[in-house]
Amino acid sequence: AKYVYLFGKGKADGDGTMKPLLGGKGANLAEMTRIGLPVPPGFTVTTDVCTYYYANKRTYPAALQAQMEAGVANMERIMGTKFGDANGMPLLVSVRSGARDSMPGMMDTILNLGLNDTTVLSLAKATNNERFAWDCYRRFVQMYGDVVLGVQKRENEDHEPFEAVIHEYKHETYHTDIEDSALTATDQQNLVALFKNLIKERTGKTFPNDPWAQLRGAAGAVFGSWMNDRAIVYRRKYNIPTEWGTAVNVQAMVYGNTGEKSGSGVAFTRNPANGANEFYGEFLINAQGEDVVAGVRTPEPVINLKKKMPASYAELLKVRAILEKHFKDVQDIEFTIQEGKLFMLQTRNGKRTAAAALKFSMDMVKEKLIDWQTAIMRNPADQLDQLLAPIFDPAEIKKAAVIATGLPAGPGAATGQIYFNADRAVLAHERGEKVLLVRLETSPEDLRGMIAAEGIITARGGVSSHAALVARQMGKVCVCGASAIQIDYEKKTATIEDKVYNEGDYLSIDGTAGNVYAGQVKTAPSEIITGTIQGNKAAQKTEKFKHYTQLIAWCKKAARLQVRTNADTPEQAANAIAFGAVGIGLTRTEHMFFEGDRIDSMREMILANDTAAREAALAKLLPYQRADFLGIFKALKGFPATIRFLDPPLHEFLPHTKEQQMDLARKLGIPVEKIMARVNELHEFNPMLGFRGCRLGIKYPEITRMQARAVFEAAAAVRKLGIKVNPEIMIPLVGFTNEIDIQSSIVHEVAKAVQSEQKVRFTYKVGTMIEIPRAAMVAEKIAQSAEFFSFGTNDLTQTVLGMSRDDAGGFLGAYQEAEIIKKNPFASIDQNGVGEFMKLAVAKGRSTRPDIKLGICGEHGGDPDSVRFCHNLGLNYVSCSPYRVPVAILAAAQAAV
Ligand code: PEP
Ligand code: MG
Repeated sequence: AKYVYLFGKGKADGDGTMKPLLGGKGANLAEMTRIGLPVPPGFTVTTDVCTYYYANKRTYPAALQAQMEAGVANMERIMGTKFGDANGMPLLVSVRSGARDSMPGMMDTILNLGLNDTTVLSLAKATNNERFAWDCYRRFVQMYGDVVLGVQKRENEDHEPFEAVIHEYKHETYHTDIEDSALTATDQQNLVALFKNLIKERTGKTFPNDPWAQLRGAAGAVFGSWMNDRAIVYRRKYNIPTEWGTAVNVQAMVYGNTGEKSGSGVAFTRNPANGANEFYGEFLINAQGEDVVAGVRTPEPVINLKKKMPASYAELLKVRAILEKHFKDVQDIEFTIQEGKLFMLQTRNGKRTAAAALKFSMDMVKEKLIDWQTAIMRNPADQLDQLLAPIFDPAEIKKAAVIATGLPAGPGAATGQIYFNADRAVLAHERGEKVLLVRLETSPEDLRGMIAAEGIITARGGVSSHAALVARQMGKVCVCGASAIQIDYEKKTATIEDKVYNEGDYLSIDGTAGNVYAGQVKTAPSEIITGTIQGNKAAQKTEKFKHYTQLIAWCKKAARLQVRTNADTPEQAANAIAFGAVGIGLTRTEHMFFEGDRIDSMREMILANDTAAREAALAKLLPYQRADFLGIFKALKGFPATIRFLDPPLHEFLPHTKEQQMDLARKLGIPVEKIMARVNELHEFNPMLGFRGCRLGIKYPEITRMQARAVFEAAAAVRKLGIKVNPEIMIPLVGFTNEIDIQSSIVHEVAKAVQSEQKVRFTYKVGTMIEIPRAAMVAEKIAQSAEFFSFGTNDLTQTVLGMSRDDAGGFLGAYQEAEIIKKNPFASIDQNGVGEFMKLAVAKGRSTRPDIKLGICGEHGGDPDSVRFCHNLGLNYVSCSPYRVPVAILAAAQAAV
């Protein structure tokens, strides 16, 4: 089998399409080589080897060693150097991980591999640069000691052990904190010795001198890091399967640290924070790539290269254009300049904020790089709500004082209580606090804290530090490199110009401008919200709003699945329609009974001893319901509305505390004992499986009759106003054919009566929810009465999985951790289980009624993966909460293109 894929000098075994096998980095190194960009030669060890490694007790396939040797030989040929050469210029390599999807900061990198006590001398001689050679060696021992041999920060340590050694050395030798670049060759040599001692002391292991032993160790460490805690946390968050594995890239070193004519940088072909079409990134002179991303030295903006290295800058701009034209997407690149010569070390599609994704996609259509269908795909559906996220209240922010500024690393506005380490941030978040994570520099260890935080502040480091990338992708607000903040981890304080902020104090940050504010600053809705829902003219003039409406318009053109909303009030319905919904997929009528003092009439109805008393109470509820429906029908302007009849267990409406019971007794003029007795009578051990849904209407048909009358009288009233109306009455929790038969004949009866009383005609439908397994099983019979099905996937999930929707939170975390389930089944449809019931019901329903209308109204209606699933099932619509409507529209379009 082929385990090693070579690239170099314009030729490559692989190409950009081979990401599953070569990982993202490996595939793109091959692709860049093929299109003639200056890529140092190397090879990629495939993800199959990673799979083999874990399947075979961390060992390698027998054929691997020979193939790696051929790979090294190929590099030697192209570079004209030898691996482990003790006389001439030695071949040094980098070893880096590369999974199918990039996992920023999660995996480890080793540079300058191949150096030892002999080759460091030949390197010094060949380059005539002793300082450089020892600097490379010192870095290598440090990285190798950390990543491969496991010398890592202990709980009680504030600094990386190697950094602590450097710090101590500087103070002993120079009595001050000099720059790393001021360290002499002798200093670096001394540090190498100190590092080796540290390694021995901490691990008992000796640093290996043999380059091949180094290479095997490094490859093993890359494969091993696939299972480290950070990688596992990241994969879980982004649903990356463990089976994918990582590839290993071994590449000839080029050096950004040979002197003032060299440097390393990372850049985006466009601005990944706001989407502007500008070359955006940073670099460091006389440094290796790790220095730029590690956030230890604060890099310079890449635009400064124009003055400092004009020829290299011009070449970079050329590469930028070639890359965008070739990949037709914004690229995130790593480059090194060695003595004025440019080398490309990586390219990948750049991570971006939702705002940037939107602008990129619209601009690239204009530039004819992509078509409008591709533009739809370029906007991740699960990120879209970032665009709807709040900004600071413009009036409030004018009054707020900027106490520090940094780089705008993740846009948006956040306010919260500050915490200086990830664990305490997580705990605070669990207590329900809004948290800002404040760190000297962001590092992958902070991932858990970042997930818990509303926003992140760092005192050092640039916009391309690994964790800043992660922040952006997570949609976290982030300000980086706010150097005015002095953080004392021990005292748990941040000091800004003599003012001390303690852990738990409030700060606010603007990740779009890079500002830090004292205290809490009120946030306000985004332009898209005000432009859409409030029709705010100024908001509608912004580019963001225009781009957004263009995107939604294209989505509507592309989508086959319609999007409706779950709304119980005219306002919610109007909002959803402003967002592009085309009707209501679910009105939960019970929500209407909680308002004002309606609950009293509701309670009276429940407490009634006989039909006459119940009907009297229902008569009081009728005008309320009629008015509610009237409002909704008007807001809908002719769009259809699915109205679900009473569903929850009756006892949910009853007063449960003594005070409430006394109060109700007084209002109804009955003895409190009677109320207590009725509450007891209605008590259920398992209300979710109890007296609820259509069971209420079966036992008390007068409830169904009242609700039908309210709907139809409202329909008649709006008909008379000349407004189109189209009520769809939905019977919940049906499992037996007779249930829907009995309930729908009541509805038809009332419809007939109201039409003749009011002397108007209106159209309506009667349908059912499919939310218990039996309904799916007998769907062909149910479809004889039901004119539509709406999947109630909340209850369907609960009943198919036998997991209470109200109690599953207690163990679902453990289930995800153990990878029994990938996603919360109450958020994203369990396609193999619940989905099969849906498939069955769709087929059976259509067999009886080929044009039966099919929708979904469970929480899953706003989840992109579930929307795609519903599209593939051939449903007519999904229904979700109003603020999820844009996400569902985008997801529906993406499923269709
Ligand atoms: C459902 O069960 O999916 C549903 C939409 O109804 P409810 O959430 O009100 O039970
Ligand atoms: Mg339900």
